[in-house]
Amino acid sequence: MKWHTLAVHAGTESDPLTGAVMTPVYFTSTYAQEAPGVHKGYEYSRTHNPTRSALEAALAQLEGAKHGLAFASGLAATDAILRLLRPGDHVLVSRDLYGGTYRLMRKVFEPWGLSFDFVDTTDPAQVEEALRPQTKMIWIETPSNPLLRISPIAVLADIAHQSNAYLVVDNTFATPYLQAPLEMGADIVMHSATKYLGGHSDAVMGAIMLNKDEEAQRLRFFQNAVGAVPGPMDCFLVLRGIKTLPLRLQKHSENAQKIAEFLATHPKVSKVYYPGLVTHPQYLLAKQQMRLSGGMIAFEVKVSRVEELQNFWSALKVFLLAESLGGVESLINHPATMTHASIPEAERLALGITPGLLRLSVGIEDVDDLIADLKGALQRI
Ligand SMILES: *Cc1c(COP(=O)(O)O)cnc(C)c1O
Repeated sequence: MKWHTLAVHAGTESDPLTGAVMTPVYFTSTYAQEAPGVHKGYEYSRTHNPTRSALEAALAQLEGAKHGLAFASGLAATDAILRLLRPGDHVLVSRDLYGGTYRLMRKVFEPWGLSFDFVDTTDPAQVEEALRPQTKMIWIETPSNPLLRISPIAVLADIAHQSNAYLVVDNTFATPYLQAPLEMGADIVMHSATKYLGGHSDAVMGAIMLNKDEEAQRLRFFQNAVGAVPGPMDCFLVLRGIKTLPLRLQKHSENAQKIAEFLATHPKVSKVYYPGLVTHPQYLLAKQQMRLSGGMIAFEVKVSRVEELQNFWSALKVFLLAESLGGVESLINHPATMTHASIPEAERLALGITPGLLRLSVGIEDVDDLIADLKGALQRI
């Protein structure tokens, strides 16, 4: 099935009871049984809920995976994946990383007994050098948050497998439409479905997709035993969002390309990070492993203190100053004080998250309005 067809039909079958074309929202916590243990496959909604089952089937189909699992948030999904490991195990992680993932690793799983090294995963040599006998997982974000660095998925999958480690890809920024990590050899894909999969900034959710049966079974066990599951209404919203995923991503990418090109020539902008610009250090790799360049841009304006941006924020009329990303509306974020504030300042600066760094989640509005908005606000710096 081709992408636009897949997105519309994945996981949705007309309701056997009424023929409803959209999966109903099953607001129920429990299910009547004919006799103890005799039921229709549903006992309790932490374990299974029909709306969630439909969404999980859709998630699996989108990534071309055997298994799809939905969680209460992206971080709940990350938590479940890290539980596959045991105290004493070592994980290699992209240096440029979603702040909450970093916090979960450092503040929750390090005290629990895992150890982490943060390396530049765009460079396979650095990954090989950092491997240890205890390394059981390589965790990458590509494109990364916030600097849109691209790591080579197929090469890193080979490196991971030579050392009997899993390669996990946080595919949130790319979405399954732009990038298929499992086909390139990754073992597990995770998403913050809060972002592009949902696509409308109205639900918080996480997703895991994989082909491996044993690991899927363990993740399914954690999902029920720990209980970080999404409710049926959120499952419905994400299932609906998925239907327009390829359409939205085409528009997000088209708008972002034009905005990145505009920013690249602006006198108040010193750097633009966008995989669709030939100046991006991994431009060719991005072309190889991504269908389009996506809707996320980071750029640096020529200021040394965040206070100098005061007039810039207040001049914006279309871009909303907010955390998160991947919705139909355009958002702007200041990583150093917002999404990446949980990373210590020295590490932030070493990564390139400076006071003048801004991150755009480019929406699907008319690009002329978006460029005019940025143009006007940049004049005020
Ligand atoms: C938002 C995000 C997460 C965390 O997901 P939540 O749904 O907020 O828990 C993880 N990775 C990336 C790349 C994200 O953008």
